[in-house]
Order: sequence, then C-alpha cells, then structure tokens
Amino acid sequence: MSKSIHRMELPREVVVGSNLISEIPEVCRRLGFSMRALVLSGPTTYKMVGEDVANSLAEHMDADCVVVAPAPTEESVEEVQEKIRRFKPQVVLGVGGGRLIDVAKLSSAREGIPFISVPTAASHDGISSPVVSLKTAKKEALSVMAHPPIAIIADTSIIVKSPYRLTASGCGDIIAKYTAVRDWKLAHKLKNEYYGEYAANLALMGAKLITQNAEDIRRNTEEGLRVVLEALISCGVAMGIAGSSRPGSGSEHMFSHALDMVAPNPALHGEQCGVGTIMMAYLHGAKWRMIRDTLKTIGAPINAEELGIEPKYIIEALTIAHKVRPDRYTILGENGLSREAAEKLAKKTGVID
Ligand SMILES: [Zn+2]
Repeated sequence: MSKSIHRMELPREVVVGSNLISEIPEVCRRLGFSMRALVLSGPTTYKMVGEDVANSLAEHMDADCVVVAPAPTEESVEEVQEKIRRFKPQVVLGVGGGRLIDVAKLSSAREGIPFISVPTAASHDGISSPVVSLKTAKKEALSVMAHPPIAIIADTSIIVKSPYRLTASGCGDIIAKYTAVRDWKLAHKLKNEYYGEYAANLALMGAKLITQNAEDIRRNTEEGLRVVLEALISCGVAMGIAGSSRPGSGSEHMFSHALDMVAPNPALHGEQCGVGTIMMAYLHGAKWRMIRDTLKTIGAPINAEELGIEPKYIIEALTIAHKVRPDRYTILGENGLSREAAEKLAKKTGVID
C-alpha cells in the first residue's frame, strides 16, 4: 500500500465565556491580525452584535463591515469574495447564525484567508467545523469541505438571548453523532472506509455531554449554554480531525436533507436530525429511547407533529434518504428503505401515529 497522508485542520484559539466582544481585537492581535479585518453580519445580528464588533476592531485596525442578506445564496458568497479582493483583509470575522458563518467560511476559504467564527446562536456544529452546507437552486443540499475557523469566540451573554429553539436544535445536531459514528464504523467494516477512532470518540463525547446535562440545558442559562457550545465545538473539531464530515453526519443527516427536499415547510436542521437520530438508532439496534428521552427533556421535537411536518413527508424522506449522498454508506444501505419498512420504523419509534 502506498503511503497515505492524513491532514488535520484545527482552530488555534477557542474562547467560550461571557461578554467577550471587547476581547476580540486582542484575539486578533495574538493571531497576528493587526492591520485589516472584515466583519460579516446579518441584518439583525449587525444591530445586535456585528456593529459592536466592527467598532471595537476599528479602534485597533482598519475594519470594515458587510451586511449579508438574510437568506444567503451562492451570489452572497461571491459578493463577499469581491469585497475581500478589494479590501484585502487579513481575516474575516463571521458574526451571526449558522448560515452567515457558512458565508464567512466559504468566501474566506475561496480567497485563501482565515476566518474567525463569532456565533450568535448555538444552532449547529457549523460554528466550528470545516464543512459548509449549501442549498442549490433545486433545493438539494450540498456539503462542501472548506476550512475550519482559525478561532472561535462564543459569547454566552449574546447567545443566551437567541431563541431557545435554536439551542435545542443545536442539541439535536449533537445527538446525531450517536448514529453518525455508528454509520461511519459500519462503512469502515463493510466498505473499508477510513475510520478515525480519535475523531469518532471526540464526536461521541459531545453527544454524551448533551445526554448528561439535558436538564441543565433546558434551564437555558449561560452555564447550560456553555455545555452546548463546548459540545458543538468538540463535534466540529472532530470533523477537522477526520478530514471529512463523517463523525458528524450520517443517515440521520441524510434523512434531514431528504426532508428539506420533500417537505413544503421543513423544520430546523438540528430538529430534523434529532428525530432522524431516534429512527436511525432504532435501525442500528442502539438506545433509541434514551436519545428520544434526552431530546424530550431538552425540549427538542421528537415526532412529526412537533416538527410540524406531515407524516407522509417523513415516510417519503425515509425512502429517499439513502440517495442524498450515494457515496456515503450508512445503515440505510445501498437500496434504502421500502415504503412499508419506512412506515413501520416511524411508527415503532413514535415519530408518526
Ligand atoms: Zn448537522
């Protein structure tokens, strides 16, 4: 066998705590960025946080700000790239929710400069992972490897003000690692795919943190939020170590992506992944009841009704989920689930009546 090279990309600095905005210039300075920085923010997050970040940076260096449209597209990414080429920042700071951070991640990766992740919600592991989720014009979900943030600055005093639904959804994205790792192991056994024990355990550790602290998380305090953030960061870093989204995304994510395609009004990414995890855990013969009960304690959806999605779309998504990423082997196998098997699975796990 030829020499195989495994490359890992990791953040250099992770700061989790309260009232961190004034610390941002110092983090930039430590990383060697003291000349010019570009801040990206959404329309709402700009007023809440982005403006303060830009002002605080402007006291120390040349700083500019771009407000990205609420539902960013490929064009938004290109616009930011254009801005990067003109302004020539040393670093991009993505201040906002998951989608905004994806725009910062992808535009900076394409222009070959680092980015700093400043999440305003704990809704999914994109805040720390190297992966970008894009929706194409045909509503297909694409996941692209870009690069991980060089630093993550997660301010609990800001994130605690975001709707709790987003945090609960983030927990669904973390719980998903129980089945993602099982799928990865299965692909290793059956398809001889590369499997990294360290990355797998790191992702599972994130999921365990959530099950062990479900009640504290539900209280929606800064302390509970810190657990969720640390778990999200641990899961994102696991993907950087694995060099792929494998430790973070398996059949449960494929189910969620399938729902995005078929359901007229999909729920949040992590909410759908959480429900997907309950069902995929059942297929794996894992502790699906424990996963369901954890989500229930947290206050995340555990069935079709709570997702606000009609049962027929759940069944349809289950039958097409294996086609979402045919290159990714999971418990759904190459042929996926028949309609009968899908219905039986959703009923057995209480996802539909
Ligand atoms: Zn996810």
